[in-house]
Amino acid sequence: QANERESLYLVSEFAQKYYQDVLWKTEPGKAVGLSYFKERGFTEETIRQFGLGYGLDEWDAFTNHALEKGYQLDYLEKTGLTIVKDDSRDPGLKRKFDRFKGRVLFPIHSLSGRVLGFGGRILSNDKKAAKYLNSPESEIYYKSKVLYGIYYAKQAIAKEDNCYLVEGYTDVIQMYQRGIHNVVASSGTALTPDQIRIINRLTRNITVLFDGDAAGVRASLRGVDLILEQGMNVRICTFPEGDDPDSFAKNNSLEDVLDYLKENSKDFIQFKTSLLAEEAANDPIKKADTIREIVGSIAKIPDRIKREIYVQQCAAMMNISEEVLFNTLAQISRKEN
Ligand code: ATP
Ligand code: MN
Ligand code: MN
Ligand code: MN
Repeated sequence: QANERESLYLVSEFAQKYYQDVLWKTEPGKAVGLSYFKERGFTEETIRQFGLGYGLDEWDAFTNHALEKGYQLDYLEKTGLTIVKDDSRDPGLKRKFDRFKGRVLFPIHSLSGRVLGFGGRILSNDKKAAKYLNSPESEIYYKSKVLYGIYYAKQAIAKEDNCYLVEGYTDVIQMYQRGIHNVVASSGTALTPDQIRIINRLTRNITVLFDGDAAGVRASLRGVDLILEQGMNVRICTFPEGDDPDSFAKNNSLEDVLDYLKENSKDFIQFKTSLLAEEAANDPIKKADTIREIVGSIAKIPDRIKREIYVQQCAAMMNISEEVLFNTLAQISRKEN
């Protein structure tokens, strides 16, 4: 319903302004939230531009304020900003809690700049609470259709004819501050076809930037196949062990970051082939699986000429005849149709 959606937008925008005010204008906001962002290397300009905020470490500070201002509890609940629960000692008595408390907040914007929800990060690195807590899905926030940073990045993506895809909020912000504006994150969900479609309308080229932890890379290869399926060109860049785009952009000049990206971005199929070829080097059975997996990726590419070029490259890298690969490709294609 259009009316209800509009009400959810209004509540979210109210919340964004409220949490931003808390960050800049209250003592705990300044002492805890603002100093946290500054310690991460964000400038005041950046903190303002991305609309970052802070939720006080109190049970219901936001909810009470919103109700006083006339926002309806129903909408506060549907956006997930307020959690309504039965009182533990007195069932039947409803209690209202703020979802985001004692967290720094990253508002999530739509393509047109409306606030859809929030990501909230705990400040301490204690392992008891989840590091990031996100708004739940709502009528205005479908996680699989949203890319963090897209509102700020869309012009640069079209202009540069390339999109950098990173893992998290802080990667987007730090790269943006460093001067690389064509950057978005899938944030929290595995990459989805709808998210790729959003990028596909702006450019045919994606460069995926992986955190420098091996576990993530293997798991993310699946998502990258989805990009190939949409006929896009994918390049991959990894960072040194222990680095992610955030820390790398924080600690290096724009020139050095751009140089690094240029020198270390590899064509996806080549990347996958060399990664898997290494793992399977001395194991014929594993090598067969590997070949099938790579050919599986090649089979996703809609363009026939591109597929052939990749088969030739892969044959050379895996030291196997093109004919075998073409046969495997034909088998896989038959199976999938
Ligand atoms: P930071 O630098 O603040 O530690 P990060 O972005 O490097 O954050 P990662 O652990 O690399 O964090 O995770 C990447 C992204 O995955 C996060 O930005 C967040 O969107 C999502 N994420 C991470 N941990 C959680 C969690 N516990 N719950 C929900 N989403 C999470
Ligand atoms: Mn990670
Ligand atoms: Mn990370
Ligand atoms: Mn990080």
